[in-house]
Amino acid sequence: MENVLMIPGPCDVEQDVLLEMGRQVVCHYGAEWADFYNKTCDLIKELLQVPGEVFIVNGSGHLAVESMVLALGESGEEIGIVDNGHFAHRMIEILETYGIRPKVLEIEWGKAAAPEQVDRFLSKNPAVKSLALVHSETSTGALNPLEEIGCIAKKHGVAFAVDAVSSAGIVPIGMKNYGIDLCAMASQKGFGAPPGLAILAVSKRALEIIRKRKAPTPGWYASLSVWDRFRREQTNFQPYSISMAVNLIFALNKCLRAIKEEGIEQRYKRHCDVASMLRRELNEMGLDIFCKEAEPTPVITVAKMPEVLDSIKLINHLKNKYNILIADGLGKLKGKTVRIGHMGKNACRINIIALLYGIEEFLRKEGII
Ligand SMILES: *Cc1c(COP(=O)(O)O)cnc(C)c1O
Repeated sequence: MENVLMIPGPCDVEQDVLLEMGRQVVCHYGAEWADFYNKTCDLIKELLQVPGEVFIVNGSGHLAVESMVLALGESGEEIGIVDNGHFAHRMIEILETYGIRPKVLEIEWGKAAAPEQVDRFLSKNPAVKSLALVHSETSTGALNPLEEIGCIAKKHGVAFAVDAVSSAGIVPIGMKNYGIDLCAMASQKGFGAPPGLAILAVSKRALEIIRKRKAPTPGWYASLSVWDRFRREQTNFQPYSISMAVNLIFALNKCLRAIKEEGIEQRYKRHCDVASMLRRELNEMGLDIFCKEAEPTPVITVAKMPEVLDSIKLINHLKNKYNILIADGLGKLKGKTVRIGHMGKNACRINIIALLYGIEEFLRKEGII
């Protein structure tokens, strides 16, 4: 079962973080716990310049994304979604299950959203009062320009919501400077902790809007109105009213302190360096990168397979011979691309070299090179 996890999350976890998971379980209320939980939230606030509050709840990235999109579109106001990949499309699917039909700006897979496109979209759709997009799109490898799009959203007076599930902890994000109101995250990708926590950062402005809503945000488990109410009441020093995954919060806290120690700019540079090394060598072997035109994300690489080969053969070769796990393409890219995660612990040259060795060997065996 144990492989080097070079899939687009989860990624391998540092030993000292794993040890946190083995600590005795503690009670999820009381002053001591509240203090630890709040300090963990503070580390996220500092990392992302959060101009408001951070919520951490048992769940995965999807929970954070669902909670985020449900907090948009008060009293039937239109929600805009920038759709340029599988995870962007997932936001539309989630809203539709609640009977909400967002306005969609469709962009070809593999391209990043251009700020001018978003500007035109918002000018044409003045009823749209909030805009959601994915920062680092895990299906295509494209990175949407947050800062520029944040400016456009601000110009139109539109609330700005970002799925940063894969990018947070690797790509520097300044919620305050970029004008981001809601930012959805998870423990197991850029932060490098095991899977199991949904994280949502919310600006003061967005919290005020949520508190003034005529009806609370829908649902209970995914409802930001519910999270916010419990956080404010803090009955019995309980930051949230469910049995908390305390060991995961220990692990996340450890990761956040390690990120702070490395420095987010340095961490970003480390990821950019291994990503460009990998892409250069893949190109040398004749493999194209899927999102050539967009500024690619440093978090993962999506490589096109030669037409005659199904991606599953390469995936099996790497797994069976080298215990390295990479992932198949998502949605319409299944079989045609592979997705290689290089995050956190695995964003190191030695792993990339081993991976490249296996890929080259496979391409030779198949007579491609
Ligand atoms: C992984 C991912 C998700 C979903 O996260 P889960 O923790 O698997 O629920 C959402 N958005 C993006 C961009 C992702 O990479």
